[in-house]
Amino acid sequence: MYKPLIGITAAVSSDQYGKEFLRVYAKNITALEKAGGIPIVIPCNLSSETLRLLYERVDGVLLPGGGDIDPSYYGAELHPTTNSIDPQRDQTEITVARWAVDEKLPIMGICRGHQVFNVALGGTLIQDIASEVTPSLVHESDSSTPRNLLAHSVMVDANSCLAGILHHTQPLVNSIHHQAIGQLAPGLRPTAYSPDGIIEAVEIPEHPFALTVQWHPEDLVDDSDSMLNLFRAFVIAAAKRHEAV
Ligand code: MN
Repeated sequence: MYKPLIGITAAVSSDQYGKEFLRVYAKNITALEKAGGIPIVIPCNLSSETLRLLYERVDGVLLPGGGDIDPSYYGAELHPTTNSIDPQRDQTEITVARWAVDEKLPIMGICRGHQVFNVALGGTLIQDIASEVTPSLVHESDSSTPRNLLAHSVMVDANSCLAGILHHTQPLVNSIHHQAIGQLAPGLRPTAYSPDGIIEAVEIPEHPFALTVQWHPEDLVDDSDSMLNLFRAFVIAAAKRHEAV
């Protein structure tokens, strides 16, 4: 199979001297490589012209996990628990998500990426599950919890693309988030829910591959073939896209 180029958006991260760096979570890189892709970083401090040129070179885009999205993108006031807003990253990811949907470029989202995807297409977020959803499970594990800890099940729609990829309709997943999808964006189909009703996955049915999940499959690929299959299905869609253009 052709090895497609997969762009992964970076976060801005400042050191103790205020020097800004761009970073990506290493496990996303290793998961993409294991699935047969060639990962490449999409910086979030590019001009719109350069961002577009880079986007045109990649065969798929991964929106990874990270901090919270500026709620002004979905017309809400800042909740006290909303944190780690990264304006350059918000702008970059929202732009790329809209391009990928309009132009049918394969796109996968993880955690923050799942939420950015919904916001980019006109949806809203629950800014703090613990105070806004009752009763709720604990979706936000603390930083001492292993990232591959299976925290809750999700109920997957048996007729979804996701169910076909995972070969499961009630997988256990990790859960490292305090926000969630609120109002669903037009055109998105919810395909998995947690037992307390959080939308844990969405997809766009008429798109070759537009699928996002609220959990972190990159932390589960060593434990679970079905979670590696998510990356494989994405990489295969990206390879097909490359062969089609
Ligand atoms: Mn969860």
